[in-house]
Amino acid sequence: MSEFLDTDIKFLKGVGEARAKTLASEFDIHTFRDLAYYFPFRYVDRSRFYSISEITGEMPFVQIRGRFINFSIEGEGAKKRLVAAFSDGRRMMQVLWFSKIHLFKDLYKPGTEYVLFGKPNVGSYGVSLSHPEVSLYDPSNPPGGFEGVYNLSEGARKKGFAAKFLGKLVLNLFSRPEFANVRETIPEELLGVLHLMPLREALRMMHHPASPDILRKARERMKFEELFYLQLHILRFSRERSRRTRGRIMSRIGEKFNGFYSNCIPFELTGAQKRVLREIREDMRTGRQMNRLLQGDVGSGKTMVAFMSILMAVDNGCQGALMAPTEILATQHYETLSEWGHKIGLRVELLTGSTRAAKRREIHEGLLNGEINILIGTHALIEDTVRFRNLGIAVIDEQHRFGVAQRARIWGKSEIPPHVLVMTATPIPRTLAMTVYGDLEVSVIDELPPGRKPIKTLLRYHDNRVEVDRLLRRELEAGRQVYIVYPLIAENPKLELKSVEEGYETVCGKFPEYKVSCVHGRMKPDVKERQMQRFVSGECRILVATTVIEVGVNVPNASVMVIENAERFGLSQLHQLRGRVGRGSDLSYCVLVTKQQIGADTRKRLSIMTETTDGFLVSEADMKLRGPGDMEGTQQSGIAFNLNVANLATDGQILNLARRAAEAVLDARPDLVRVPRSDGHADDRSDIKLEISDSSADILSRELRYRFAKTVDWSQIS
Ligand code: ADP
Ligand code: MG
Repeated sequence: MSEFLDTDIKFLKGVGEARAKTLASEFDIHTFRDLAYYFPFRYVDRSRFYSISEITGEMPFVQIRGRFINFSIEGEGAKKRLVAAFSDGRRMMQVLWFSKIHLFKDLYKPGTEYVLFGKPNVGSYGVSLSHPEVSLYDPSNPPGGFEGVYNLSEGARKKGFAAKFLGKLVLNLFSRPEFANVRETIPEELLGVLHLMPLREALRMMHHPASPDILRKARERMKFEELFYLQLHILRFSRERSRRTRGRIMSRIGEKFNGFYSNCIPFELTGAQKRVLREIREDMRTGRQMNRLLQGDVGSGKTMVAFMSILMAVDNGCQGALMAPTEILATQHYETLSEWGHKIGLRVELLTGSTRAAKRREIHEGLLNGEINILIGTHALIEDTVRFRNLGIAVIDEQHRFGVAQRARIWGKSEIPPHVLVMTATPIPRTLAMTVYGDLEVSVIDELPPGRKPIKTLLRYHDNRVEVDRLLRRELEAGRQVYIVYPLIAENPKLELKSVEEGYETVCGKFPEYKVSCVHGRMKPDVKERQMQRFVSGECRILVATTVIEVGVNVPNASVMVIENAERFGLSQLHQLRGRVGRGSDLSYCVLVTKQQIGADTRKRLSIMTETTDGFLVSEADMKLRGPGDMEGTQQSGIAFNLNVANLATDGQILNLARRAAEAVLDARPDLVRVPRSDGHADDRSDIKLEISDSSADILSRELRYRFAKTVDWSQIS
């Protein structure tokens, strides 16, 4: 059935063939629906007249009623302009025209009452308006409400589209009688329970809101709609997948787990670690195939959670794998896990790119015959030659960028797909995780092991080095180690930034009594490895580096992280770098060094770092400042972010609501969700439809009333 809104835009009054082409090319508007959903990017207040004395320079637009007093032409040549004095009855202001001077001079009559509309300038000379919109004041037609302003491209302007043209078309559309029959897209039951504005009213109000309050309600409704369908799509996809894929049932908590927990564990688990382990156990026990994202700030103890999860698999006759992004990190994990594993008689092996052929063969054999219980490694681990006898769980560390495709390779490692635990220290705001990793469950370690001293974060200028150097010297003399991070490897004459090479010279000169290692991304891996190892072993006390050290390195003796040109780094990245220190029990420092002239915005951004060490707060702030499109991980995530009205950075609560509503619908009547074109891909969220019949409406509304027993209070949401 073809709907009114699907009508070709060329059939709308005022459009026609030629304009339809422009609408398509410049606005991507092809149908009535496209136009109805093409919302203004801002609104101007036409609801009242301002008096000249109220006007400030910050006002985007003002509407003033009054009379021209006189006109004069001033200046010569290019500077020639028409200047009018305009009075609102009490005060005067200037109105200026720089072109078509004579036309305007003759057009407007002194003494007649006009309405001016434009962007005010306020300077030492008082208030002025340039080229305002001028119309006759009509007492029988009082000021309107709010007027939408639409984005108008240069191309559209050239084709003769005026600023108000789209607004007129929208009015033409809404005045068609068929518009009254446009179908609601959200089930009535949901509208009622959630107090959402009905579609037709919301569409009207998005274009011509009667008041800011009504605009807010219309927007909430449109945002909800967008997020609700996104969640329906994601949830349907992940449920479908988990219905098709059975996980291995690991019902036993056995000898290894209990033995380790009672006799060998080197510390008491934190409450958060215990909770997360319970969540993981619940997944593994039920026969669901686990796909869980474990978020925990740097130093929160994810490694132990990984190890104990692997033990659950081992106790059920399976093998476990732990994959890390770098060789250094894999080696560190190997050292930790083999120490723990040996205590309970497990065989742990390490497989990386530099594992020798003979050892590699030995490992392949041990994996196949089941003698190896736990394999640690880099990407080498998911190569096709690596086969397990019985892989029960794969843990992926520090790679929230590990996408669906790569996870699929791991699923393929075993006849029954292994459970997958992805761990990350880059806390992704929940709203984003729910959307980007819609098919992952999320667990959070929100508690650090006891006894950690906080990290003190300082913001300093380049030119103020004495204090920074004094701090470095003091820590070095106390036996500690320090990191110094630079944005560049080598000097670049075009950029006024510090580089590792230059930094290395300076640091060696300043601290001749200490050895310095140097690491950056353009080194050969084995050289880098050796340099890094000298720092890890404590032989070198200072490490100068680029951000290659960002991930995973654990040197508890390091107590200072200096970041040069900190203004060049994103907040999440700064937080990651900061996490390299504070791993011991002494007070640690992170010094953000910037050039002298940083803008107020940059200062504000960096001061978030000095205010909190909570990774979630940092990443939420980061997302608000940069927008979710720039967040790490979103580009690779496979889900297109073409959200129109909703904003993942700020609409977290609406997203939550949308998620709950989508869950309710899928739980009550999954059969109502129709996906006409589905190739089973998470990326494709087009064309999901909800078809509610009378008979299903009852079930749905019962479910909704049950889930949303407490009415939703929108005033608490936005
Ligand atoms: P991350 O979450 O950054 O990977 P790690 O697993 O490397 O953190 O843990 C950081 C440090 O804290 C390690 O030295 C680890 O042994 C220690 N640790 C982990 N859990 C606890 C705990 N519950 N109590 C005390 N120390 C812990
Ligand atoms: Mg770690």
